[in-house]
Amino acid sequence: MWTARVFTLYPEIFPGPLNKGLYGKALEKKVWNLEVVNIRDSAEDKHKTVDDTPFGGGSGMLLKPDVLGKSIDSNIKKGERIFYLSPKGKKFDQKIAKEISEEKTINLICGHFEGIDERILSTRNIEEISIGDYILSGGESASFVVIDVVLRLLPGVLGNKISKDEESFENGLLEYPQYTKPQIWEKQSVPEVLLSGDHAKIKDWRLSQSKDITRRRRPDLWKKYLDKEKK
Ligand code: SAH
Repeated sequence: MWTARVFTLYPEIFPGPLNKGLYGKALEKKVWNLEVVNIRDSAEDKHKTVDDTPFGGGSGMLLKPDVLGKSIDSNIKKGERIFYLSPKGKKFDQKIAKEISEEKTINLICGHFEGIDERILSTRNIEEISIGDYILSGGESASFVVIDVVLRLLPGVLGNKISKDEESFENGLLEYPQYTKPQIWEKQSVPEVLLSGDHAKIKDWRLSQSKDITRRRRPDLWKKYLDKEKK
């Protein structure tokens, strides 16, 4: 059973959106598991202090390494990977998601305030991942993103409902346009080729649409795709 263990100051917001629809059912059926650790439980003073001001000055507060360290040490098991959601991290993508989906248990640390004390990262061998070039107020929404992406990849979560292989990014291209009933809606018909029943032709059309949209919208992905095709 794939397990996500989330370290947070706001345990009450979990499982939140991860409890909806097929993800909720899969959670109930124990296809995956969510463990939520309240970082504050590891604070030792009577005020349960978790943060302090940065040395050298500056605005905001940092999560204290002693509190976070204790929280991590008393909850993770040897060999498990630990990720800190961080704008400075490696950019999270479908490839990293696949890698994470193959782990048995992953740990996600949600920062807050200005972030966390740097020393925790090296002493606990923590990998930093970012969900994009912007600053969130906390790591929780980023952890929802990471877990959401990984759950789609786990066998038994979406069942046969989605053909993952044809989704955006799987072959390095964005997805082709899709249509459902009614066939004509607001005087707009769906592309003729999709009604032809000719599977080879449909496949060709979809691939050319995928290429077209990727070339126009994501020159970066398009270049990577062309380079791969050349090899
Ligand atoms: N001062 C930090 C930002 C802190 S934001 C800096 O400039 O790098 C507060 C918390 O939100 C972070 O500790 C982190 O856990 C989370 N966070 C913010 N932006 C994020 C992003 N793009 N990806 C992942 N986590 C993010």
